[in-house]
This record gives sequence, structure tokens and C-alpha cells, in this order.
Amino acid sequence: MGIDATQPYDDGNIFARILRGELPCRKVYEDEHALAFHDINPAAPVHILVIPTGRYVSWDDFSERASPDEIAGFVRAVGTVARDAGLVADGYRLLANVGRDSGQVVPHLHVHIFGGGPLGPMLAR
Ligand code: 5GP
Repeated sequence: MGIDATQPYDDGNIFARILRGELPCRKVYEDEHALAFHDINPAAPVHILVIPTGRYVSWDDFSERASPDEIAGFVRAVGTVARDAGLVADGYRLLANVGRDSGQVVPHLHVHIFGGGPLGPMLAR
């Protein structure tokens, strides 16, 4: 069971604390609009999380409230991180959980980048 994606942004969430430098991460990329780091519990040989630097609960919140610059910057950062990780030739998968049914756990938008080998079916059956 995941979080309620309609909740207000919580500045105490784990990714907000990583953004503020209060908690460590294995950083792979950072710019004005995005921070990317390795997932602490990887579900694929390469498992990187990309988060916007702004305060957004989920993709729903971000797509509704973020500025065109933030959206463009974040989308480009996701592509750059995957490219820089060498994932384009063999391919990769993007995933963003939103709310309860998806199982979203951390209430700060994050896009998962999975790669480094065949990833299997898109959803567990
Ligand atoms: P969600 O289920 O919300 O889409 O995914 C949250 C992801 O964040 C999970 O894959 C989990 O392993 C990862 N995660 C949770 N806490 C931390 C942390 O403190 N550091 C890092 N690097 N990843 C975390």
C-alpha cells in the first residue's frame, strides 16, 4: 500500500532530506532542476532514482504545478542520466509510482531508471 498522492508536500520526507544534504546518497548527477542517485535497494543491475529539486509529491503534482523550465529540465536530466550510465544501446526502463495502487513509498516525485540487463515483464503477474 502506497502513500496518498493528494497529500500536501512533507518537508521531512527522505528525499527532501537527501536534497538538503542531511542524509547521504550515492550521487550520479545534479543540476538546477534534478538530483540523481543510486537506489539503496536496487531492483536491477542499474537502479537510479532521479528527483526534481522542487517540492513535488508525485508525477501528478509535478505535471500540474511545475513550470515549463522545471519540467524541461527534469525530463532532460532523466535522459542525460540514463545516457551517461551507458544504458541507451541495450535499453532501459523508466517508472514513476503515483499514490496508493502503485505502491509509491516516498512522497517526493522520483523516476526510477532500471537497466543493466533484461528487465523481464513490465508488471508482475
Ligand atoms: P517508490 O516505491 O516510492 O516508487 O520507491 C522508493 C524507492 O526509494 C525504493 O526503490 C527504495 O529502495 C528507495 N529508497 C528509500 N529510501 C532510500 C534512501 O534513503 N536512499 C536511497 N538511495 N534510496 C531509498
